[in-house]
Amino acid sequence: MENCIFCKLASKEIPTNVVYEDETVFSFMDAEPQAPVHFLVIPKKHISCLDECSEEDQELLGHMLLVVKKLAKEQGLENGYRVVINTGDDGGQTVKHMHMHVMGKRSMKWPPG
Ligand code: AMP
Ligand code: ZN
Repeated sequence: MENCIFCKLASKEIPTNVVYEDETVFSFMDAEPQAPVHFLVIPKKHISCLDECSEEDQELLGHMLLVVKKLAKEQGLENGYRVVINTGDDGGQTVKHMHMHVMGKRSMKWPPG
């Protein structure tokens, strides 16, 4: 997908701090971390948001969650972590390539405040 920043990161057109990659999934550190550990897990193929996923993405989505679990362990998040998928404008999604935020190493109460 042209002009998609996350597609450019996944294809190495733009360098980033890579955490993990395999055939279908790419992971990198968030540029503006909201927690001491904050990385993103994305599908290599362009999917704009969770809402655009279909039955054919079922295996990919499950795989992404298992990658999240594996990377959380590798990043030392043994005390727990939060996984967030912002979706659409009301969901606060700013980059229109579906991604899972993984944040840890600080206590994150929900709801905030
Ligand atoms: P969201 O608001 O859920 O769309 O989250 C987008 C996330 O992508 C934010 O946390 C940004 O800090 C992060 N982000 C945007 N551009 C980059 C980039 N080039 N490298 C790493 N993280 C990025
Ligand atoms: Zn993309």
